Amino acid sequence: MAASLTPVSFAGSSEMPSARLTDSHGRVIHDLRVSITDRCNYKCVYCRTGEDGPQYPDLAIEEYLRMIRLFVGLGITKVRLTGGEPLLRRGLVDLVQELARLRTLTGDPLDLALTTNGHLLDSLAAPLKQAGLHRVTVSMDAVDASTFERITRVPGSFNAVVGGIRAARAVGLAPVKINCVLLRGFNDEQVEGFAHFARRENVIVRFIEFMPLEEGRMWTPEIVVSLREIVERIGRVLPLVELPPTEASETARRYTFADGVGEIGIIAPVTQAFCGACSRVRLTSDGKIRTCLFSQVEHDLYGRMRAGASDPELHQYIYRTIQQKEARHHIGEPGFLKPSRSMVHIGG
Ligand code: SAM
Repeated sequence: MAASLTPVSFAGSSEMPSARLTDSHGRVIHDLRVSITDRCNYKCVYCRTGEDGPQYPDLAIEEYLRMIRLFVGLGITKVRLTGGEPLLRRGLVDLVQELARLRTLTGDPLDLALTTNGHLLDSLAAPLKQAGLHRVTVSMDAVDASTFERITRVPGSFNAVVGGIRAARAVGLAPVKINCVLLRGFNDEQVEGFAHFARRENVIVRFIEFMPLEEGRMWTPEIVVSLREIVERIGRVLPLVELPPTEASETARRYTFADGVGEIGIIAPVTQAFCGACSRVRLTSDGKIRTCLFSQVEHDLYGRMRAGASDPELHQYIYRTIQQKEARHHIGEPGFLKPSRSMVHIGG
């Protein structure tokens, strides 16, 4: 039987949440991203220094489950598991199985997705699908094996990831999306190859503009390959047709090709920020809530849970934290401050 959740009632409080969790800027927050470890088996050069390992403890699977259940009890409808590398996490399949039993406040199953580097996906795709996972996004920053392995710093990674993508597609973890971060002068020559890859492999490739979230110091405005440039470059080889958004909070601008075969998307947090439509909140692998990738403060949900807070108290805490969600990020503006955690330790 599906685990049921009762809509929260904040007795004695003037705050009256409904099935929609709304922040103080009027945005509906329905998308929770949960990092279940900050360990990673890749050392992607634009993400990690290669010298720094994990920095935060993993929590028990039941602890993530309780925290996710609290969020769902406030109106979250979509959960994406991430990391670090979530496929490294023991207990992942059990967690997915439990999450698949949860119901949203309107009685529907959660939308369950996972972001992975795909290295271990070949063997895990089938058990994850069977446990109730709906979709995977696989990160891939080159379609050429030697460039790919120069980025990941792991020999054999290209074939492992392509095998993982095909396994995901074969078991119906569809549509398989590929996330690609382009850096000028580094892997931007791969852009046209990705368009062909999307069509050949029947996957949706999404290019993400590089954000200042790396462990080291690589980011400059010049290294970012913008949405406009990506569209122009691909359009020269394969004419593109823009697709309408599927929902208001969709982060990707979507395009198909002139013959209607294949899809690419571009996520442009730097050159065309979408903060006004942001529907996301994040939970780090050590149980801190982050209301924005670029937050300067974290909110210690796990600490309160460990201290014995009840579910209604934790609901109140999450609700109040969401009210503090930042209006927008300030990438590229004078005085911009990098957050204390980099992407791999937040959960992308
Ligand atoms: N290990 C998993 C993976 O590789 O997908 C999940 C974690 S990884 C940090 C999540 C995503 O963040 C990847 O697609 C990665 O390319 C992206 N990413 C990492 N650093 C980034 C940055 N500075 N700007 C934009 N995306 C970044």
